[in-house]
Amino acid sequence: MRAGMGYDVHRLGEGRPLVIGGVNIPYDLGLIGHSDADVLLHAIMDALLGAAALGDIGKHFPDNDDRYRGISSMKLLKLVGDMLADERFIIENIDATIIAERPKMRPYIDEMNANIAEALGIEKHQVNVKATTEEGLGFTGTGKGISAQAICLLSSASELTETAAVFPDRPCGTCGGCMMMPEATDKENKKKKDKKKDRKKKK
Ligand SMILES: [Zn+2]
Repeated sequence: MRAGMGYDVHRLGEGRPLVIGGVNIPYDLGLIGHSDADVLLHAIMDALLGAAALGDIGKHFPDNDDRYRGISSMKLLKLVGDMLADERFIIENIDATIIAERPKMRPYIDEMNANIAEALGIEKHQVNVKATTEEGLGFTGTGKGISAQAICLLSSASELTETAAVFPDRPCGTCGGCMMMPEATDKENKKKKDKKKDRKKKK
């Protein structure tokens, strides 16, 4: 297992759309940046790249490169997902917090979770976006900017193959989660019962 963290900040300004988690949020100000300045996706990408020891988004998508001017961060997130797949990393989960005084994020959270899961090819329950305010304190509290924090957990496919060698009787050899399935538990219980019977017989 490998953990990663990410943090990002963008200033709010006029004449820009407000895009967070790939959702266009109606507001009179937007985040300023070279790309669409999607602060949440930037924090998440940094967490993912960090966990994979692949550097950060500045390294892969430099803000002086014209290819990334105004680009949707959803596209960049997909590219990061591809990089992790190339390195045989599997995303376990992502947890993230948006820190913004205004506007209210709650109505858009579900769509953000769905966007992130879809871009990375994972399930919605593996992504959890939250939002909070800073009670009027600091640059987010006074509405000058919006920040985001993210953490993620990755496992590597090679780790899983090693586990498979240790537990050869479990074909997937991974988390053992399948043993919690009723069918598997029934089989296990039956085995135990049979063993008990055998012992009794021997007596
Ligand atoms: Zn950013």
